[in-house]
Amino acid sequence: MKTVLMVAEKPSLAQSIAKILSKGNCTSRKGLNGACSVHEYTGSFQGQTVRFKMTSVCGHVMSLDFIGKYNNWDKVDPAELFSKALTEKKEANPKLNMVKFLQVEARGCDYVVLWLDCDKEGENICFEVLDAIEPVMSKGSGRERSVYRAKFSSITDTDIWKAMNGLGEPNRNEALSVDARQELDLRIGCAFTRFQTKYFQGKYGNLDSSLISFGPCQTPTLGFCVERHDKIQSFKPETYWVLQAKVFKGKDSPLTLDWNRVRVFDREVGQMFVNLTKTFLEAQVESVSKKEKAKQRPQALNTVEMLRVASSALGMGPQHTMQIAERLYTQGYISYPRTETTHYPENFDLKGTLEQQTNNPFWAEEVKALLSTGLNRPRKGTDAGDHPPITPMRAASERELGSDGWRLYDYITRHFIATVSQDCKYLQTTIDFNIGTEAFSCSGKTLISPGYTAVMPWQGIPLEEAMPACERGETFTVDEIKLLEKQTSPPDYLTEAELITLMEKHGIGTDASIPVHINNICQRNYVTVENGRKLKPTNLGIVLVHGYYKTDAELVLPTIRSAVEKQLTLISLGKANYQQVLQHTLDIFKRKFHYFVDSIPSMDELMEVSFSPIAATGKPLSRCGKCHRFMKYIQAKPSRLHCSHCDETYSLPQNGAIKLYKELRCPLDDFELVLWTSGARGKSYPLCPYCFSNPPFRDMKKGMGCNECTHPSCQHSLNSLGIGQCVECDSGVLVLDPISGPKWRMACNKCNVVVHFFEHAHRVQVAQESCDACDASLVAVDFNKIRTPLPAGETQHTGCVFCDLVFQDLVELKHATMRHRGGGARRGRGRGRGRRGNPKKPKDKMAALAAYFV
Ligand SMILES: [Zn+2]
Ligand SMILES: [Zn+2]
Ligand SMILES: [Zn+2]
Ligand SMILES: [Zn+2]
Ligand SMILES: [Zn+2]
Repeated sequence: MKTVLMVAEKPSLAQSIAKILSKGNCTSRKGLNGACSVHEYTGSFQGQTVRFKMTSVCGHVMSLDFIGKYNNWDKVDPAELFSKALTEKKEANPKLNMVKFLQVEARGCDYVVLWLDCDKEGENICFEVLDAIEPVMSKGSGRERSVYRAKFSSITDTDIWKAMNGLGEPNRNEALSVDARQELDLRIGCAFTRFQTKYFQGKYGNLDSSLISFGPCQTPTLGFCVERHDKIQSFKPETYWVLQAKVFKGKDSPLTLDWNRVRVFDREVGQMFVNLTKTFLEAQVESVSKKEKAKQRPQALNTVEMLRVASSALGMGPQHTMQIAERLYTQGYISYPRTETTHYPENFDLKGTLEQQTNNPFWAEEVKALLSTGLNRPRKGTDAGDHPPITPMRAASERELGSDGWRLYDYITRHFIATVSQDCKYLQTTIDFNIGTEAFSCSGKTLISPGYTAVMPWQGIPLEEAMPACERGETFTVDEIKLLEKQTSPPDYLTEAELITLMEKHGIGTDASIPVHINNICQRNYVTVENGRKLKPTNLGIVLVHGYYKTDAELVLPTIRSAVEKQLTLISLGKANYQQVLQHTLDIFKRKFHYFVDSIPSMDELMEVSFSPIAATGKPLSRCGKCHRFMKYIQAKPSRLHCSHCDETYSLPQNGAIKLYKELRCPLDDFELVLWTSGARGKSYPLCPYCFSNPPFRDMKKGMGCNECTHPSCQHSLNSLGIGQCVECDSGVLVLDPISGPKWRMACNKCNVVVHFFEHAHRVQVAQESCDACDASLVAVDFNKIRTPLPAGETQHTGCVFCDLVFQDLVELKHATMRHRGGGARRGRGRGRGRRGNPKKPKDKMAALAAYFV
């Protein structure tokens, strides 16, 4: 029997689709990566009986990155990232072992059906999957077709079966447009980001950002927020005057009339009109008009509109909204939530969709009424040809969806019902008055039929007091004439909904990327989300945008990005060449980059105003190994050390305190060591500021302290202070914390484990010898004479912290380990792993080092 492999985008989708296609008769097992399951059943495919194997990936299988050496910030000129640097696709999440998993499942399969989500990202993943599995699939006879693509918009029986019966092919062009976007964003983003981050971080002490990032789409997005900020800042309120008249008839309460001149900006002129009008005691009705008007039902819902409403009405950010919407889609409640389409195709089963909502207590009445009077045709919208508009696909209750899930579903469903309802109809009555020579009017709305506003009450016509019945020529008594003084008010900060509108209008970002970019500018601390989901730029966000604008306005304006997005669309349609678009765009940005580098001083002028120079911040702490002068410790995030004489900045571990470490020096470079502490009871370790940024050994990575340093003879290194393998994690070593006395402790150099021991010891040292039983380094302890726990008042003892009977009760770890692993397990663990458990082997230090770092 032949085998058909089928791959969906997420485990939950694979499960739902398999359940539909196997009619509930599939057997499931976990895949080798533990994250994905495989669902198997027998069925028919292309007229033959086959074995189906449905599984999934977890989003993108691969991600794009530079090859090894170009990831080094210090050794690579960022300009090289535009063309010289090579990129490669790496597994997006190596822990998932996705390629291996796919290959194991695909080995010997005859056909593959791709069930990835039907958007460009999904199309791109199709080819990632194919690249992984094609080499191991069984080679069919001759030219038989083996790759199929399923196209679907919702996880419902109808849609999934329709897709299965009309399989197509994956679209290479759409996948390429995603490749192009990834490559452009990586190269342009990294080049600008690395250059700026290095340049500014070495210069300013209180620059509160670890990364000054640039993104070809992120930056124009931020630009919109800063543009609004600038408008607010430069706004000068103006005073204006309004003539207000109140009139009444008989015993009716007075009507407030609007002045037809609206307002004047000159007080004298305003006063003149008051004086002119005040002499009249009566207002003449000049005309009465009644017009029937309609408030249009909404167009069918697309992603951007959903994001806007979710932000403004439900208070949910775009990223969060997309996550919820995707969950609703995966569970089959709504159709695919990434779409630009606002038009229902002719054959869409609107009635069937509506019928599913007849039992929901919140809108059953409206739905039943619609079904009996007949659905209204939805308004014409745009058909992007991707998916139907976002539509509820099955009934749901508040209980099964959870709070935010329900709120979003509730809105999507009400919106859907509204699109097939009647428009809202109302009567607009306008009465025009003359008081002397001045014209006034007043108007009001009365509801004729609520139409769609019955299910979307927030859009309903506000209740107003009825307009008085009157006719032309009638007179009203003037109650009051007043001159009101008012001020023009500044615009407010952009709301998320307004930002989405701007991004859409200028063609930057797509339904898929808009939430990501907005999320990025929040997370990178360029804007903060204020009450009412208003986006207020931070000082850093403002300076950056102003700086780019001054250097090269096109870095901020949406124009270039929108042109690039158009090119990407052309690639996806097969109308533009992938290589040419890439080449051309990178050429432009490379020139922009060089110009930016040359003009950085003008950006710097702005930075100077907002941030203080690094040399003026911080306090002297430790000595530089090059010039032997004091370097300054800058505490503001990210905390750093700066030598103003050498003009060098050294990074430090974050989220803890830094102090001088006994004026000891690194034997390699003569820099004074500093000590990092995470708090009173937490762990601490010394580090060399130079080695921390410039690892001295091949197997060391950036950001390692002396507790991880593989220096063979340095007395602060792991080699001298390491005791034994960590009890919690696989790769860590417990290292003696040399300044922790009198409450001595050791801490893992990889995970958070801290082990307390020997409370009343004068001195704890790691000995040369190691334990015969477990290979851990022995520890020599010198106890306090009065409080020694040793028998017969002895004060000195050397032994293994894991095995020694005398130490047994003094090591907190002993109990923890016993409890966790049960007695002998620990010992087996140390042994089984050979030398890794032992950080030190006295006779051949180098061999020992090699052993636990391979
Ligand atoms: Zn120096
Ligand atoms: Zn050093
Ligand atoms: Zn060291
Ligand atoms: Zn550990
Ligand atoms: Zn031992």
